[in-house]
Amino acid sequence: MGLTNVYGMPGRVGSNANAQLIDGRTIGAALREEIATEIAGRPARARRPGLATILVGADPASEVYVGSKHRACAEVGIQSIDERLPANCGEDVLAATIERLNEDDAVDGILLQLPLPAPLEADRFIDLIDPAKDVDGLTAANVGRLWLGRPGLAPCTPQGVIELLERSERKIEGREAVIVGRSALVGKPLAAMLLARNATVVVCHSRTANLAARCREADILVAAVGVPEMLGADHVKPGATVIDVGINRRDDGLIGDVDFVAASRVAGAITPVPGGVGPLTIACLLSNTVKAARARGVWS
Ligand code: NAP
Repeated sequence: MGLTNVYGMPGRVGSNANAQLIDGRTIGAALREEIATEIAGRPARARRPGLATILVGADPASEVYVGSKHRACAEVGIQSIDERLPANCGEDVLAATIERLNEDDAVDGILLQLPLPAPLEADRFIDLIDPAKDVDGLTAANVGRLWLGRPGLAPCTPQGVIELLERSERKIEGREAVIVGRSALVGKPLAAMLLARNATVVVCHSRTANLAARCREADILVAAVGVPEMLGADHVKPGATVIDVGINRRDDGLIGDVDFVAASRVAGAITPVPGGVGPLTIACLLSNTVKAARARGVWS
């Protein structure tokens, strides 16, 4: 099945371009619709799945992200709880908030919005979250489960990349996948997910030699760097699938880590920014919340 048939995609990305557009808005909407249908199909007496977010401080970008997560929850029927703490709340108050939400039976998922204001150290607080409620998939327990191939909760953005590839019917098994970026949030967990789907995976980073040549080996090229338009036509093998995770803010709007115009002349398929991976990240957070509710066995 082609993209156009399944998701009503516009087909080629531009008059001089070869690549097919992988439309994250449409694919994300399809996933959210599935989640809403599952929740709506529960008995009327059943409680709804619950997601709690914790925002420490008033970072404007974090406020926007948290707001969009609550709106997305409301749209699919997930109950959301908005915990806000002042930037100077102190370690004990943040720890006590997480413990309280761990014990709250109405809460299936806990999301600690990052980054935390200094001097709070994210790793310490992430690991206080009950792994059964860790819908960001960042606790050491869930990271270990992902690499061991055991059931658990996995990070949302790399899950979103997998959803984009699978729902646009890109073959993963046997393919060469190159990920540029090795963060705990994106690059590393995505490597585990692609490996589990039998891709051959190379993870590149700031010390990688001959980056462009490495990237040109890729059937699936994923950019998760945080450098605007760093990967261009020279980094893309003809016909490759290019997934741009990057979100960089410029005066004229959001821009990815891939030079979209240049890369789309060489790629076989490509995601835009915005409208590529971003919508899938939120959809996968909703999906993880429902998964956590199901696994905890309290959502009935
Ligand atoms: P990060 O933690 O800053 O990691 C960036 C990675 O890129 C690091 O591994 C770094 O290598 C590598 N890198 C930096 N400069 C490089 C260069 N010149 N050549 C090769 N590798 C280089 O970033 P992140 O959290 O993974 O995020 C990456 C991008 O994705 C950002 O734009 C972020 O905003 C975006 N993002 C988007 C979503 C979404 O929902 N779409 C979600 C999360 C993140 P070293 O390890 O060697 O330093």
